[in-house]
Amino acid sequence: MANNWPDWLPIRNNLRGLSPYGAPQIDGVISLNTNENPFELPEPVISQMLEQLPDVLRSLNRYPDRDAVELRKSLAKYINNQSRQDFSVSNIWAANGSNEILQTLMLACGQNGALGFLPSYSVHPLIAEVLGVTWTSASRNPDFTLDIPAARSQIIAIKPSLTFVTTPNNPTGTVLRISEIEELSKACSQISGLLIFDEAYAEFSSETSAVTLISKYPNIVVVRTMSKAFAFAGARLGYLIANPAVIEACLVTRLPYHLSSVTQGIAIVALANAKLLQSEVDLLIAERSRVTLALESLGFKVSQSSANFLLFSGFQGQQSKVWQDLVDGGILIRDNGITGFLRVTIGTPAENDQFLAAIARHKP
Ligand SMILES: *Cc1c(COP(=O)(O)O)cnc(C)c1O
Repeated sequence: MANNWPDWLPIRNNLRGLSPYGAPQIDGVISLNTNENPFELPEPVISQMLEQLPDVLRSLNRYPDRDAVELRKSLAKYINNQSRQDFSVSNIWAANGSNEILQTLMLACGQNGALGFLPSYSVHPLIAEVLGVTWTSASRNPDFTLDIPAARSQIIAIKPSLTFVTTPNNPTGTVLRISEIEELSKACSQISGLLIFDEAYAEFSSETSAVTLISKYPNIVVVRTMSKAFAFAGARLGYLIANPAVIEACLVTRLPYHLSSVTQGIAIVALANAKLLQSEVDLLIAERSRVTLALESLGFKVSQSSANFLLFSGFQGQQSKVWQDLVDGGILIRDNGITGFLRVTIGTPAENDQFLAAIARHKP
């Protein structure tokens, strides 16, 4: 449909050239392409959710808690445990996936544009474009790390309302050290801009989270999701941690009753089981090391990853052909459009073995 809209449709001009976001969804293949958690929620967690459901269903005639207070309390407790902080409900905002969180931030605070460092999560510039927020793309080093002095100069020269940094970065897996996070925070406070850390993969990383600097730098916003570590992608639950003024701005922008009572109810149960779910994350971290070593011993070059996926190269110009060949063999990985690289999500041990057997046929 893009560029071919009917005359009678008054679609906004800035949307005319766009197509919907989306990785391929193919049936009957091993899906290692969207960084989902490969494990289903554990049975005890499902039982607890089912116990909650009758009460939730009986009150579906009523609107949900508009401000999701109980859920935000649970999220605050989770972050406080994880990062030894002292956040309360007033520091937390929740929505239908972190994508809605990112959209809310751009609606609330995007008037002087947004800046990001590519390659990174392609939804950041996409939301900006849809909302008419001016987006500036800056680059990363050839090894996908951030050039901090260059980034600081760009922030100060461009003065964006919002600077986006994904850490661990998707699709590269690279992570920022806390000292680097602090350097960028100083630059953004100098220009009165928010610095948004998209920490969708924080639980897979051993680096200190940017949440530990929020009390010192009120312009830091940390965006998280339950889609990856909590094996909860289908439920749609994202959240942010920030200074209460940021949460107030989100409250002004959000749609009334945006987060269903079903979502709120089952997310609270998932959070109560954070320890159990983290043990599966630990297993995925161990698999990440095993798959990295296996790919390297086949001769591929693997980017150092602190997330639940690996970006790797060694296709001699054949990356599209290799991708298609894997799909034909029943394994779906991701071509993020970075020349020479493909990205694979860490699956179950059995899925990883099947992926390794398939990719071995394409070793450099
Ligand atoms: C997966 C992902 C998200 C989206 O998460 P949802 O909560 O499912 O919307 C956000 N940011 C990054 C960097 C991601 O990789």
